[in-house]
Amino acid sequence: MALMITDECINCDVCEPACPNNAISMGEEFYKIDPAKCTECVGHFDEPQCVMLCPVACIPVNPAHIETRETLMQKYQRLTAGSIAGTTPSATEPASPPPASTAGA
Ligand code: SF4
Ligand code: SF4
Repeated sequence: MALMITDECINCDVCEPACPNNAISMGEEFYKIDPAKCTECVGHFDEPQCVMLCPVACIPVNPAHIETRETLMQKYQRLTAGSIAGTTPSATEPASPPPASTAGA
């Protein structure tokens, strides 16, 4: 299940850096969770980090995004595969030509 942040959020900034999936960002008035990125921390931690840290307990399950643990694991694998695919191996640079010699007159 993806989680969501309610309007009880006091914008304390604690949860955003703790999210391993970068699913939390500032919304118009308070923080929000991108359901496409939230795996409920499955694949990273045993417990949802944002829920553990939130001082006002305003992060319930998003009823619009009820997912099984298996689905969350697949989402985690998709997100991880995406980050691996995004890394490009270093290109082989062509050897620089030798400096032109201007010998002879
Ligand atoms: S449950 Fe985990 S993945 Fe989902 S928003 Fe919270 S910290 Fe991020
Ligand atoms: S930890 Fe809770 S109160 Fe703080 S920004 Fe996140 S959702 Fe809002």
